[in-house]
Amino acid sequence: MKGSNLTELLGKSLEELEALVAAMGEPRYRAAQIYGAIYAERKLAVADMSTLPKALRERLASETRITMPVVKQRFVSNDGSVRYLMDLPPGEERGTTRPASVETVFMPSDGRQTVCVSTQAGCAVDCQFCLTAQLGLIRNLTAGEILAQVLWPLQDMAERGVAAGAEGSGLEPQTNVVLMGQGEPLLNFDAVMRAMRIALDQRGMKISPRHVTLSTSGIVPGIERLAAEPVRPKLAISLNASSDEQRDVLMPINKKYPLRVLLEACKKFPRGSREYVTFEYVLLGGVNDTPGDARRVAKLMADLGRVKVNLIPWNPGALPYAEPTAESLAEFHRILLEKGIPAFTRYSRGRDVMAACGQLALNDAGSAALPVLR
Ligand code: SF4
Repeated sequence: MKGSNLTELLGKSLEELEALVAAMGEPRYRAAQIYGAIYAERKLAVADMSTLPKALRERLASETRITMPVVKQRFVSNDGSVRYLMDLPPGEERGTTRPASVETVFMPSDGRQTVCVSTQAGCAVDCQFCLTAQLGLIRNLTAGEILAQVLWPLQDMAERGVAAGAEGSGLEPQTNVVLMGQGEPLLNFDAVMRAMRIALDQRGMKISPRHVTLSTSGIVPGIERLAAEPVRPKLAISLNASSDEQRDVLMPINKKYPLRVLLEACKKFPRGSREYVTFEYVLLGGVNDTPGDARRVAKLMADLGRVKVNLIPWNPGALPYAEPTAESLAEFHRILLEKGIPAFTRYSRGRDVMAACGQLALNDAGSAALPVLR
């Protein structure tokens, strides 16, 4: 078989692999071996799946494929984060006929590694403080393309010995995945959840649901669908405003799903023990960072059950906003704590290589000035 006649393996569930091996006349347990090899062992070529007999490996090599993104550039930040600029090839057999480029960010820290993945190429939501919005929506990503953004950086960094769990270290790092790259995950719900079921499957990628966070601009029907999923990532809401008037301007999606409706969906969102709904609040200097804003945010949070607020100082880019002053940030934080709202100040990683929140816009200009490996 050639080209688009090849069956794509990446993104297939265990049940789908079982159907595939059954059609090949192979025993069912071969599906579990392929599933574990791809997702748990990150064997991204059939030839490396040593648990399979040679004849089956050869047949899979001629009839199937595992499509990985093509990494165009790799920008390494001073803080150790890496922004990958990846090309995603089209593939009719995977249901997508358009090529696209996306960004994925890897952030290592002591005993932990976090991968920030894109769920769409570009985004249609039009948040005014986000560079991705300027791309518009290019296309939805497939489940395989979303999973590839986790597998590839983990494998790349393990091979470079950067991740704590690199081969031979004897350590298994905690892997966190955040759906906070390009795109609105809840506007690509089916592919995102298909990918998440594999990522969270303890026979698959084995990532704990406690370590995966889906961040949304506030797509209420998507939040309600997510709430009904038996296994799901944690929920984060990109809030960024203290009133409808302010949010209508900063995030026009608010006109469709205003704060009252959004917060009601958050209040109802099921939470496991010690689980919170997180509200992210990007502080834009002189726009949404006053003590009055902080008091209004505290009021919005008051009746929602277990919530916490992450305060993120604006990351400078090509947009006409300013960073908050250290004083306004500290005062905002202090007011939330005083009102009994758990609040944390988070500084984005990778600002120097345009890898931080709101900075993802396929930026490869000036790459000569950026440290590029590979
Ligand atoms: Fe889209 Fe998220 Fe950017 Fe809003 S913040 S435009 S939802 S990528």
